[in-house]
Amino acid sequence: MRIVLIGPPGAGKGTQARMLQQTFGIPQISTGDLLREAVREGTALGQQARAYMDAAGFLLDGFPRTIAQAEALAAELAQHQQRLDGVISLVVPRAELVERLSGRWVCRDCGAMYHERFSPPQRSGVCDRCQGVLYQRSDDSAATVNARLEVYERATAPLLSYYRAHALLRETDGSGKPEEVLRRITTALGVSQSLSPS
Ligand code: ADP
Ligand code: ZN
Repeated sequence: MRIVLIGPPGAGKGTQARMLQQTFGIPQISTGDLLREAVREGTALGQQARAYMDAAGFLLDGFPRTIAQAEALAAELAQHQQRLDGVISLVVPRAELVERLSGRWVCRDCGAMYHERFSPPQRSGVCDRCQGVLYQRSDDSAATVNARLEVYERATAPLLSYYRAHALLRETDGSGKPEEVLRRITTALGVSQSLSPS
């Protein structure tokens, strides 16, 4: 399965990417990972992405951001006789995004996400999975979130149009419990959670 996850900050991309990875065994690739590896190995971003394309599937979270990047991705996939299975656009009301982001805590060591009200860790400030220290991103404060969301919407609108025009866009309701959102995503992709990983 080759999937792109698009959504504003706080839409639950990281959370859903982890759940999709656990359910289907497809590797999640964030742009950050790609960039770090490309730098480490001294290769171009595209070359680094290619390594993943030869694998069974992937889930891109945070990439592509522009139409140029989307076209480069499509061209690279086409060279491998591949295409995206779908682009999930997570749609969440603005007020809920602000609430989610201002309560978000992230593990410094493994990147696991928590929310002080919606999914609190067992021990305050400590990661359930690795005992790492949890921190709040400085740009997750309510004051900056609204501005970030506006920038995001303006920057992403053309990308959404691009994928809509290519009949790949699956606008998915990202509100409700993470498990409900996951179910909507798998339905939108036409896959069942009971299927074995592919
Ligand atoms: P993104 O990667 O899109 O920025 P995250 O996955 O980091 O979003 O989620 C943002 C915050 O909202 C986190 O604190 C996370 O625990 C919480 N969260 C994620 N999905 C949901 C959901 N369906 N309902 C409530 N809170 C959620
Ligand atoms: Zn951790």
